[in-house]
Amino acid sequence: MKIFVAVDMEGISGIFQSEQVSPGSRLYEEGRRFLTQDVNACVEGCFAGGAEQVVVRDIHGGGNHFVWEDLDPRAEYVRGATERERLPGIAQCAGLILLGYHAMAGTREAILEHTMSSRGWQSFRMNGQLTGEVGIDAGIAADHGVPTIMVSGDDKVCKEVKRLLKGVVVAQVKIGLACQGGQLLSREASRDLIVRRSSEAVGKAPSIEPLRVKSPVTMRLELVSRGNLPHLDSKPYAKIIDGRTYEVTGESVEQALRRL
Ligand SMILES: [Zn+2]
Repeated sequence: MKIFVAVDMEGISGIFQSEQVSPGSRLYEEGRRFLTQDVNACVEGCFAGGAEQVVVRDIHGGGNHFVWEDLDPRAEYVRGATERERLPGIAQCAGLILLGYHAMAGTREAILEHTMSSRGWQSFRMNGQLTGEVGIDAGIAADHGVPTIMVSGDDKVCKEVKRLLKGVVVAQVKIGLACQGGQLLSREASRDLIVRRSSEAVGKAPSIEPLRVKSPVTMRLELVSRGNLPHLDSKPYAKIIDGRTYEVTGESVEQALRRL
């Protein structure tokens, strides 16, 4: 059984402010260490739960945040850009784990909430429903019939994913109290929780349904600022809704996302 782990940074245990997730910032190095520790806990749990192969994709901006020499040697790691697929090889996997994810843009008291880009994206809808990154990535896995089996992050992202996916396992490592603040489990407690929940999720994978997304998939993006709509010469398929909002449609979640 092969498991795919996509790891973002905002929902990693110990992280509560943007300086920890921004390369070059004073607290970034500790953020990378925390991320690597959560990855190792998750990989450990996956193998304990019966996985035979684990691929971990660094999906936070730029895809270059692991402390390379500290990673668990049993998994393989995707770093940097990927030209074709956001989750390369997901079609061959039995389940997707979203590690260190965060709630969608606009969620109150959610640690570092945003959808794809806090500067660019005001709100995002997939087939008419307000959707965050857990919904997008669960949708890409679902394009290939693959279930999203676990999410880790704060209480708000856990709530968001439970509304979307029946039977999904969550590892709530913190409670959001503001966009840049929260009540956090200790390092040790988060580690134990991630190991246990990852193992449980792998065991349950065959019984968890993929996210249901109707095709064709429509994505509507409201931008933060005016004047940034795509030009119809470059995206002739885009439908302009208003001065800050446009819409695209695709056969799959991944295709619609690429067209955006
Ligand atoms: Zn991120």
